[in-house]
Amino acid sequence: MKLTVLGTAAAEAQPAFFCECDTCRYAREHGGKDVRKRCAYLLDDDTFIDYGPDINAQVMMYGIDWTKIDRIIFTHAHSDHLDPIELIWRNNGFSKVTKNIDVYGDTAVHEKIKNVLNYENSKLIENQVRPGDIFKAGDMEVLALRADHDPNSTPLNYVITRNGKSLLIANDTGFWNDENWALIKNYGKKLDFAVIECTTAFLRDQSQGHMSNKYTILFRDKLIEIGVADKNTRFITNHFSHNGAPLQKDLEAFFVPQGIEVAYDGMVIEF
Ligand SMILES: [Zn+2]
Ligand SMILES: [Zn+2]
Ligand SMILES: [Zn+2]
Repeated sequence: MKLTVLGTAAAEAQPAFFCECDTCRYAREHGGKDVRKRCAYLLDDDTFIDYGPDINAQVMMYGIDWTKIDRIIFTHAHSDHLDPIELIWRNNGFSKVTKNIDVYGDTAVHEKIKNVLNYENSKLIENQVRPGDIFKAGDMEVLALRADHDPNSTPLNYVITRNGKSLLIANDTGFWNDENWALIKNYGKKLDFAVIECTTAFLRDQSQGHMSNKYTILFRDKLIEIGVADKNTRFITNHFSHNGAPLQKDLEAFFVPQGIEVAYDGMVIEF
């Protein structure tokens, strides 16, 4: 599998809109890995994981072929992960589109999309996902787990398996509850690769809704402790808010000695 990290920021991006903080000033001046678009991923060349307000720029910057996309798997409906307006351009009269694409997500995801477009007109296929579901998405098998995030909807984390390799996407979430740890353990797939969020980074200790640096490490340790990850698993942290002052060099200084890689926009990981 090949995972391209299309964005590594939380909702406000980095530099954040109009923001005068030191992190955003540094990012504006120096560019490079400290410039972060909203969080999303491309899996191989056919699957988006999330589809936020930066999707068009991401497609152009990373040479993605729109026509190869077969599906979008949504973690949740928040605006940094889902921008339904950017799906309208599939419609007749805007683009020549002959193939359907599958859309996976919770009720809130589908409701948000339906508020602005019609699935049939946009050649989208609705796939409802609930926590605990194990479903097929093309040749992939996917386990959905309930993220500790927005209690008013059902944000999801995913274990995605393709060609015998398994990937965990764990953003946006706080530290999981016992039910989730049991679920992923009983699922029995060994993770080759795991993305664990670190939204609040160095801002303050946080384990609910999002995670700070300490809990990102504890989350990794727990995956190893319960036996779904081991020394062969690659760990990467992603989804950073400028409010946590996470310059790439500071994040790397903290995480790399701990065996966790720090994502940046355009990072490609093959495993
Ligand atoms: Zn987010
Ligand atoms: Zn800022
Ligand atoms: Zn969110």
